[in-house]
Amino acid sequence: MLRVVNEVRRYEMFHPNDRLLLAVSGGKDSFVLFDVISRIHKPSKLGVITVSEGIEGYNRDEDVVWVLKSCRELGVDCVKTSFKEAVGHDLKDLVERSIKSNLNVSPCTFCGMIRRRIVNRYARELGYDKVLTAHNLDDEVQTAFINMLRGDLNRLLQSHPKGPRLSDLFVRRVKPLRKVYEWECAVYAYLRGFKFQEVECPYILSRPTLRAKIREYLYRLEGVKPGTLLGFLDFVDELIVKYVSNAGIPPLPICRFCGEPTAHNRTICKTCELLSKVGALDEG
Ligand SMILES: [Zn+2]
Repeated sequence: MLRVVNEVRRYEMFHPNDRLLLAVSGGKDSFVLFDVISRIHKPSKLGVITVSEGIEGYNRDEDVVWVLKSCRELGVDCVKTSFKEAVGHDLKDLVERSIKSNLNVSPCTFCGMIRRRIVNRYARELGYDKVLTAHNLDDEVQTAFINMLRGDLNRLLQSHPKGPRLSDLFVRRVKPLRKVYEWECAVYAYLRGFKFQEVECPYILSRPTLRAKIREYLYRLEGVKPGTLLGFLDFVDELIVKYVSNAGIPPLPICRFCGEPTAHNRTICKTCELLSKVGALDEG
């Protein structure tokens, strides 16, 4: 438990005076992050956002009640929003539309893209300095692996807390738990007696993705040689910080629909492209 707190404390990615926005889901890791950060950062410099995706049988208000109650007690600003409120459609609706349009888009793709956009916009508009997410070491290594396999350098850099800032419109995202194993988070949560979301997202069960396969493979490696995941992430950090951060990558262009940053050589962002393909793009 102490290692988790120390790991976050020695994490030099935010300053005591930074205004931090924590993105909290119903999962155990975000409870752990909230618990640690609320002990070491001034409540007046802290905000919390929870985004309900609108997944039947999965999003339950009671999962975030503890966080909302703690925010009130500590005097931390807290906002609750949803996909429906922010983009006009909940995830269930988008997935149904995607199936009807014969689009081969995984629910997780929609979910991740829209969630990131909502949180980033909110942080930017309210003047937060950093967005904190509760991704742990296991998540981070899987993501780095996937981005490398796909040859997606932009994503690799964007998801890295020390990567170059590719757009002024992105609020820097930091992940204080990124060197903490998932099992360590689970032990912390257990020792603190947290009740957390135990139902796995139904879309993960219905649709095995590349991530699930990579996760299984990485666990096998870690089982044979403990420390493999940590060593790999240290290597990615060194690579990015030493060799890529100063490589002079030009800033990202702006999507002509939503005004958010999009990848190089694109005029419409992936989110708007997909929303448009399923007939859910609000062009107003
Ligand atoms: Zn767009």
